[in-house]
Amino acid sequence: MRRPSLFTAGEIVKPGIVYLIGAGPGDPGLITVKGRECLRRAEVVIYDYLANPAFLRESPDAEYLYVGKKGGSHHRSQEEINLLLVGKAREGKTVARLKGGDPFIFGRGGEEALCLRRAGIPFEVVPGVTAGFAAAAYAGIPLTHRDYTTSLALITGHEDPAKKMSSLDWEKLAGAIGTLVFYMGMANISLIARELMAHGRSADTPVAIVRWATTARQRTLTATLGDVVEKALRARIKPPAVIIVGAVVGLREELRWFDNRPLFGKRILNTRAGDQAGELTALLEAQGAEVIEAPTIVLVAPESYGELDRAIAELDTFDWLILTSANGVHAFFRRLAELGRDARALGRCRICVVGPKTAAHLCAYGLRADLVAAEYKGEGVVAALAETALQDKKILFPKADRAREVIPTELAKRGARVVAPVAYRNVVPAALPDAALAALAEGEIDCVAFTASSTVDNLALLLGEDLAARIKGVAVASIGPITSKTCLKHGLDIAVEPVEYTLEALVEGIVEYFSQKE
Ligand code: SAH
Repeated sequence: MRRPSLFTAGEIVKPGIVYLIGAGPGDPGLITVKGRECLRRAEVVIYDYLANPAFLRESPDAEYLYVGKKGGSHHRSQEEINLLLVGKAREGKTVARLKGGDPFIFGRGGEEALCLRRAGIPFEVVPGVTAGFAAAAYAGIPLTHRDYTTSLALITGHEDPAKKMSSLDWEKLAGAIGTLVFYMGMANISLIARELMAHGRSADTPVAIVRWATTARQRTLTATLGDVVEKALRARIKPPAVIIVGAVVGLREELRWFDNRPLFGKRILNTRAGDQAGELTALLEAQGAEVIEAPTIVLVAPESYGELDRAIAELDTFDWLILTSANGVHAFFRRLAELGRDARALGRCRICVVGPKTAAHLCAYGLRADLVAAEYKGEGVVAALAETALQDKKILFPKADRAREVIPTELAKRGARVVAPVAYRNVVPAALPDAALAALAEGEIDCVAFTASSTVDNLALLLGEDLAARIKGVAVASIGPITSKTCLKHGLDIAVEPVEYTLEALVEGIVEYFSQKE
């Protein structure tokens, strides 16, 4: 394809714009609001390895170009990156240049900006949370504190290879500045410690090394200038890491908050259906876990809508509509809308749901449940409805294809006329995501959370062999007795089964399990 130059056939192509965006240190929540807006607007995203892959979903239609400087022979030189930025902007594109941390701190953002200026390309710089600040915050180390230090330096521990490390003014760094933060310093850590001590910093000075700050892989080592080299060597700490030197490091013991959350360092497999996985993932992440989503169910339309459509056509002749899950609610109202109708079709029909969450989903359609069964099982619905007169009452129960039969059977026994059409089907997806398969193969999963019998059966189908053997040593967390029964059928031992069948209780159970194990 011919690239349009700045001037083509008498017509001037307006150059695009380049946003030099700080992506932050790793935690995707640490990009700025403006940074994310620019990213969403971008037609081309140019990124490197320290930028979190979660950002790559922000603008699905953009062209993504990886220019990472690590791994493989495909990396590009800074020169090539500069040319790429200029070239894409000259095509008139809006370009997001996403850089780890802050673009102007040891990220060669300054060089890229100069190059753009010289080429006459408009640009904007969106600052980011630099690794040093983020590592300190997530390790519980205030970089300044008026009782300990009033000054701070950010230093590269790996200067331009043409220069020598010793071009740093060690005497001033050691003597005049309270807190020192070294980037890219792991290869030179012994030189750093030696020079600081040789220039007057006490061997007792606290030091912290923070690796993969703000991510689930964050590891922090604390030491003193005197023993940090030996400790780092023993712990085999590799880049990316920042080294923080100064009395403030001592505050970590009291102020750490991130890596001492109950599930920190635990990898948990979330088997919930794709569109429902988020809720459990968020609850687990709030406790510090790293969650790997492995949806074992996808929701699809029933083979035929015939029975449901017939019921919807005479919806106002029903006395009760029963919806037992958020999926049921959405499947029912989606079909209602597809038939060109809305909630008014319910007429005088009353609605019974299971649990406050399903009730909340119902609210999204402007409807309040008349009856909320407290127990999270079909039996709960039966018990709640049994309080009302059921003889000859017409009840519609749009259900999942493999729903248990307890609701229709028990209500029929009490004299009700129950119609229970299939409103959606749970099917097994073609495969698990690569990340989940890799983590399982490497034995990196600490716990697997099952939220329904089908998640257990489907995981067994997806893994294609003896489930118990494939997840040996992994703690099994099951949401309730029915799911547990299915686990036992597959030869799994149950580590966690909460008394209440809710996601919150399941997560509490997992926290308790791991706290007792430690
Ligand atoms: N522009 C970036 C720095 C790039 S230089 C910023 O402002 O953060 C790369 C160095 O940054 C790494 O060698 C390491 O010292 C540091 N770094 C980047 N991400 C880090 C992380 N998540 N945890 C610890 N150090 C990190």
